[in-house]
Amino acid sequence: MTDPIVSIRGVSKRFPGGVIAVDNIDIDIAQNEFFALLGPSGCGKTTLLRMISGLETPTEGQIIIAGQDMALTPPNKRPTNMVFQSYAVFPHMTVEDNVAYGLRVTGVPADETTRRTAEALEMVKLSHLAKRKPDQMSGGQRQRVALARALVKRPKVLLLDEPLSALDAKLRDDMRMELTRLQETVGITFIIVTHDQDEALSMASRIAVIDKGAVQQIAAPSELYEQPATRFVADFIGKVNLIDAKVLSRSGKSISCEAKGLGKLKFDTDKTCGDSVAVAVRPEKLKISKAEPKAAGLIKVQGKVRDVAYYGDTSHIVVSIKGGPDLQVNVQNDSRTGGSGVERGQAIWVSWMPDDSLVLTE
Ligand code: ATP
Repeated sequence: MTDPIVSIRGVSKRFPGGVIAVDNIDIDIAQNEFFALLGPSGCGKTTLLRMISGLETPTEGQIIIAGQDMALTPPNKRPTNMVFQSYAVFPHMTVEDNVAYGLRVTGVPADETTRRTAEALEMVKLSHLAKRKPDQMSGGQRQRVALARALVKRPKVLLLDEPLSALDAKLRDDMRMELTRLQETVGITFIIVTHDQDEALSMASRIAVIDKGAVQQIAAPSELYEQPATRFVADFIGKVNLIDAKVLSRSGKSISCEAKGLGKLKFDTDKTCGDSVAVAVRPEKLKISKAEPKAAGLIKVQGKVRDVAYYGDTSHIVVSIKGGPDLQVNVQNDSRTGGSGVERGQAIWVSWMPDDSLVLTE
């Protein structure tokens, strides 16, 4: 990456009482990226965002924004702006005044304030509501006011802390697309904090998955889904079958292992394995059949259908395996018969191509 706009180098944050909220994190974020910090509640993502904004000071490490070390730069002098979860807008001011406020208090001339306010309202498609007050608006519209207030300051980096969490599900979907469009239009770097994997996958160009203060993996959404680096990432991003296996032997890039309920299996892997690994396979990669599948090289096992959940176009099927974990299988429903054709209690074969599974060592 040439000249990242934000460079987080060896950053840690310890709070009084011994909590290590952020543990030696390194991340480079490129100009114009839509970058997501994703992880479960308490993993340290908000603390990291607050350190980028200057609201929190790192215990160790460096934060460099646009080539400058920010150690001695207070929040209001940084080229960043933050949009909070509870979008902070003044209820007694019109939308226009809310947006103009940040420019007025810093002494920007009146004509420039008017022009930039109009531009910011245009960006978030609120020009027609400029004279309204936020308490006469919907949650989604108020969120746009908050975005316009942040954008009008022309930050190099916009920081968004769970910006959609206060909106209902339908509005959240609309705003996701809206935020992606906005980021492409304004061409500045967005860094968003979220615990919602769908949100991160659908909006971000790259995602850092964080657990217990540490980065587990940084990758594009499709790579995180298809090539998760650890059990945690595989499990956190989408649904996955994780099957414990004992390593029996290694030879070159290939390992032979005993997987619970599945017997002996062979895999090619670049990773160095200890004595135990997990075989990870997504539910949509598994096939089911009443008769034993005959194709060569398949991994296959017979089980009993424990549950069938119908979701319109697909069904989610849970198959119990003797001596092994339950396997989750997603199948496309037949549009004519309207179902998966599978019933609870039925004996069934589950199979997949070895290349569709991953061996996880951590
Ligand atoms: P959430 O999604 O719930 O907001 P998060 O991933 O953003 O979680 P943080 O808010 O960054 O997590 O918190 C990380 C850890 O640091 C948590 O264990 C939290 O309790 C702790 N923590 C955060 N702020 C402080 C503080 N000011 N003093 C002490 N501990 C704190």
